[in-house]
Amino acid sequence: MKHVKPIDAPVIVGSMALDNVKTPAGEVTDSLGGAANYSAVAASFFTPVNLVGVIGDDFPQTHLDYLESRNIDLAGVDRIDGGKTFSWSGYYDFDLNIAHTTDTQLNVFADFKPTLPDAYRKASYVFLANIDPVLQLDVLNQVEKPRLTLCDTMNFWITSKRDALIEVLSRVDVAFMNDAEARQLTGCMSTIKAAKAIQKLGPKTVIVKKGEHGALLFHEDEHFSAPSYPLEDIVDPTGAGDSFAGGFIGYIASEGDITPKTMRRAVVYGSVMASFNVEDFSLNRMRRLTPHHIAERYRKFKEIAYFEAMEEAVL
Ligand code: AMP
Repeated sequence: MKHVKPIDAPVIVGSMALDNVKTPAGEVTDSLGGAANYSAVAASFFTPVNLVGVIGDDFPQTHLDYLESRNIDLAGVDRIDGGKTFSWSGYYDFDLNIAHTTDTQLNVFADFKPTLPDAYRKASYVFLANIDPVLQLDVLNQVEKPRLTLCDTMNFWITSKRDALIEVLSRVDVAFMNDAEARQLTGCMSTIKAAKAIQKLGPKTVIVKKGEHGALLFHEDEHFSAPSYPLEDIVDPTGAGDSFAGGFIGYIASEGDITPKTMRRAVVYGSVMASFNVEDFSLNRMRRLTPHHIAERYRKFKEIAYFEAMEEAVL
């Protein structure tokens, strides 16, 4: 009999956005974006998802239909009549690792108070995607006994809501950050020292995303380094970090296991999902993605990282 793995749908909270993005490959306006949307869609390739966020009445029904078609439950999404959806505008120059923000319109975010549906409060896996850390704390206060809590953030909140962010970090098990954010938060020049300093703030596990240079996992005293996929053409890096986190938590939830071995694999699945996401604007690449593509790229990641046979041949 085929072994059926337990699936415990993660709760994902974060921004749901309409983005305006310009890259050397082109530009899009009012496109589906937001940290929660990118994470939830990436996670949905592994597990059903319970989404928590807020939108205005300008958020197109077609986007909601798409999210629902991915087995993403929207009972935790607040739609504010007469309100405008959060909107981020930014551009990338030829260094695609650096997003330049030109405008952030909080809109319905400004007065958002997340209220988790009862069923979500019993969640085992809770991912606090990029959103105001005060709202991340609100969500943490509503979940009863999660097995694994994870958070992400960005420079905007490190500067404007530092104290709340430090409190979030003191209460989560896993923190995602890109290398610049880790250095900005801790004041450490070395990424390794920065990751260790973040561990001291609370999370046992810290994952530092290094854009096109892969990702580092610090778990207690262990350290794992995953490469990135050698893509020749990157169209839009927006949402890479969120897709990474979505792939990570989606895989963990589908396995129902939080051992270091599963976390390492989850980092690779995160890298796989991020590598697909950057191949097109918005969530367009995800719309064409199949489980077969994911399995194939995971296999290629293994090939890229494997060195032992070669080493034996040389020695
Ligand atoms: P990433 O490229 O993974 O860092 O995330 C990109 C997404 O983050 C975009 O789709 C934006 O809508 C969203 N975003 C940008 N600024 C903020 C912010 N201050 N708070 C929450 N989400 C944001």
